[in-house]
Amino acid sequence: MLDPPAHARLIIDTGALAANWQRFAAAGGPAVCGAAIKADGYGLGARAALDALYGAGGRIFFVAHWREVAALGALPAGAELAVLHGVAADEMAMALASDARPVLVTPAQVAAWKPTGRPCDVMVDTGLNRLGLSPAEAVSGLLEGLAVDTLHSHLACAEEGAHPLNARQLADFAALAALLPGMRRALANSAGIGLGADYCFGLTRPGIGLFGGGLGPDGSRLAPVAGLEARIIQLRDLPAGQSVGYGATFVAQRPSRIAVVALGYADGYARSFSNTGAAIVDGVRCSVAGRVAMDLTAFDVTDARPLAEGDWLTIDFDLAAAAAASGRTEYELLTGLGARYARVCR
Ligand SMILES: *Cc1c(COP(=O)(O)O)cnc(C)c1O
Repeated sequence: MLDPPAHARLIIDTGALAANWQRFAAAGGPAVCGAAIKADGYGLGARAALDALYGAGGRIFFVAHWREVAALGALPAGAELAVLHGVAADEMAMALASDARPVLVTPAQVAAWKPTGRPCDVMVDTGLNRLGLSPAEAVSGLLEGLAVDTLHSHLACAEEGAHPLNARQLADFAALAALLPGMRRALANSAGIGLGADYCFGLTRPGIGLFGGGLGPDGSRLAPVAGLEARIIQLRDLPAGQSVGYGATFVAQRPSRIAVVALGYADGYARSFSNTGAAIVDGVRCSVAGRVAMDLTAFDVTDARPLAEGDWLTIDFDLAAAAAASGRTEYELLTGLGARYARVCR
């Protein structure tokens, strides 16, 4: 079969991606600015994200799984890739055949990796209580003989700003790092970079901010990176009083023109956009008419310029507004975008 055309497009603004990375890189001062591109580049496409960020100057990339390493393919010259979940026993062979390095998170992973003599990173838990060695394990001598590139920890409350756990994790990480010389250190995700230069150490790991989510290191909005477009499959003219979609939750109050497009909750277009989301046609806001279904959403285009079947609608996907309207986080909105889009870099 020929490659069938997509009915929905995810537009990736690679210039905005690069500009966002530059902002985090500048805010980190002398710290190297890495990039988390796990979960397929926060839903936008890990390879496209890597290429755009590499073009901007990014050299250190983070994914969560070895399957993500495999999906990325060959890395450009000088790029480094680290795997945040470390390496399980049944991943050792793959890890040894790869140029990527694990971020070791348990004593068992450290013990298994040490005899390889290969470089690695190490994650220490300073209060998130997710992945990582305890500080006591990290200074117990366990890391002796291990070729550690970077010592990491991860903040629990970076997005909460002044939360007291931030200062506590910072102090504990700094104290620990002082006992483990000769390693680069990394603590801050996107929001962590905004907490200040103290948090940036030798390397930062921004993720969501690169893709336009959350706020920039100075507290201002970032450049939007993801845009959605979907094709009109059918246009219909509705007399007043007729309803649209499952549950008949939209009832036309006037003779209405309805555009049914190829976009649904299976594409990560949240069901909570039912009767609240919108498409934007030459600046005219065209509301979702009725419920978002799995594969289809209807928009009331009565006030838009004349449209034809086959035309593309630009969907309002302002992340902050979409998060507020949908009750989902910006992380969920991006990473849930699904596999049916043509991902197009512009
Ligand atoms: C996902 C992740 C990041 C990136 O976090 P953002 O909040 O998306 O900036 C950084 N570090 C670790 C360990 C992560 O798991």
